[in-house]
Amino acid sequence: MRIYRDPYGEEVVKELIKYLEINRLRPKGFKVVRSNSETSAIARIWGVSRVLQVGLGVEPTYVIELVEPRFSNLPCKEKLRTLIHEIAHVPKTFSGYVRPHNRWFKNDLREWLKGLRSLPKERIQALCYKLDEGVREIRRGN
Ligand SMILES: [Zn+2]
Repeated sequence: MRIYRDPYGEEVVKELIKYLEINRLRPKGFKVVRSNSETSAIARIWGVSRVLQVGLGVEPTYVIELVEPRFSNLPCKEKLRTLIHEIAHVPKTFSGYVRPHNRWFKNDLREWLKGLRSLPKERIQALCYKLDEGVREIRRGN
């Protein structure tokens, strides 16, 4: 399995958090990787548990894994919806815990998808361009 860090994806996550005014999330606490994992998922989110945070001396961190080529094959808006879905797995406490598809997850997801729909078209296209450019950049480097 190949896994690459995707700094472009990280920028897009930061921008999404800013545009959607999700003030409770720490943009710096998100990392993005691309993988070709054998999974039926298009994306997954991994949290660094409290035990690992203390043991390794790291801050609460979440890693969003984008599974290729499935993620890249999605239409633009579906890519952003997928990222927002993964971000909605992060609880209010930003503890490292990944919450299931519970009602708090669903409430946040609904609200943030509504926010996505109200973003200007150019902004959405710029985010998708950055995601695609990221994957091109990564392919060139490997
Ligand atoms: Zn989910």
